[in-house]
Amino acid sequence: MSALLEVEGLEIFYGGSQALFGVDLEVGEGQAVALMGRNGMGKTTTIHGICRMLPVRAGRIRFDGRDITGLPSFQAARRGIGLVPEGRRCFPNLTVTENLIAAARPGAWTLERVRDFFPRLGERAGQYAATLSGGEQQMLAIGRALMTNPRLLVLDEATEGLAPVIRSEIWAAIEALKATGQSILLVDKSLNDLLRIADSCVILERGRVVWSGDPGAISADIQTRYLGL
Ligand code: ATP
Repeated sequence: MSALLEVEGLEIFYGGSQALFGVDLEVGEGQAVALMGRNGMGKTTTIHGICRMLPVRAGRIRFDGRDITGLPSFQAARRGIGLVPEGRRCFPNLTVTENLIAAARPGAWTLERVRDFFPRLGERAGQYAATLSGGEQQMLAIGRALMTNPRLLVLDEATEGLAPVIRSEIWAAIEALKATGQSILLVDKSLNDLLRIADSCVILERGRVVWSGDPGAISADIQTRYLGL
């Protein structure tokens, strides 16, 4: 059976400058895949390509068995790719509930279930997103993506800039989602958390996949060479 997401030979440019040089990766149904690499190596570019926010110069993106390479981002979202973007990006002048409802698409994740999953969002229901703490905004960003009932949840730096205790809460939420069978593609700086959660890892170096495989197989040498640890 083919994977839920199959990326093959992905090349992306910013104007005349090439950022990705043939990236291959797969996310199987129910799998969590970590996209890793130092700053500026192409992780966000890969994610934006998959979510169809950047034009693809060459290569192919298949999702759920269908080619989505040429689709606009709203259609990729409709097919079931739910992005939690870097920097969270909720609507600041909408309330928590309005933010969640704005994203809603039919499926198992409803307003009620999202509030059960993140009780804080229930407590803050009528508050403007702009007034939330960083951790609460992150929960809202994840809640919004869940409200789209995604087949694949894509998390770009979901724990960035958060206090350690809040970070643990977000990781616990990601683990709980994985336990429900949610397919996940994630980028994060916390190697230990990624290694705990991921079923497989893909390491990028200057827009190329330089290593991929089981998290347990990432040697100290690979960590030093490609992750700068
Ligand atoms: P980080 O962890 O810093 O976000 P990243 O691995 O996600 O890094 P990308 O943001 O995908 O890396 O960047 C990959 C390359 O593309 C870098 O060389 C970066 O300078 C370049 N790049 C990213 N965004 C743009 C842009 N909007 N215009 C031009 N070049 C860009």
